[in-house]
Amino acid sequence: MLSTGNKNWQFGIYKTVCCGYEIVLIVGGEFPNCPNHKAPTEWKLVAEIESGEAKKSDSEPAA
Ligand SMILES: [Zn+2]
Repeated sequence: MLSTGNKNWQFGIYKTVCCGYEIVLIVGGEFPNCPNHKAPTEWKLVAEIESGEAKKSDSEPAA
């Protein structure tokens, strides 16, 4: 589990398990308190963000 005060190692979107508040956290950032509850909480990875390689799906029809 990822909890308040731990260092982040995966750039991505995280949310609190207590109330589902979502944040984007960079690598090396510390997991903060829950912004809603102003208290330490646990964070869950929602989606990874690949830095530098944003996958774009242009609306080109597959030939
Ligand atoms: Zn909360």
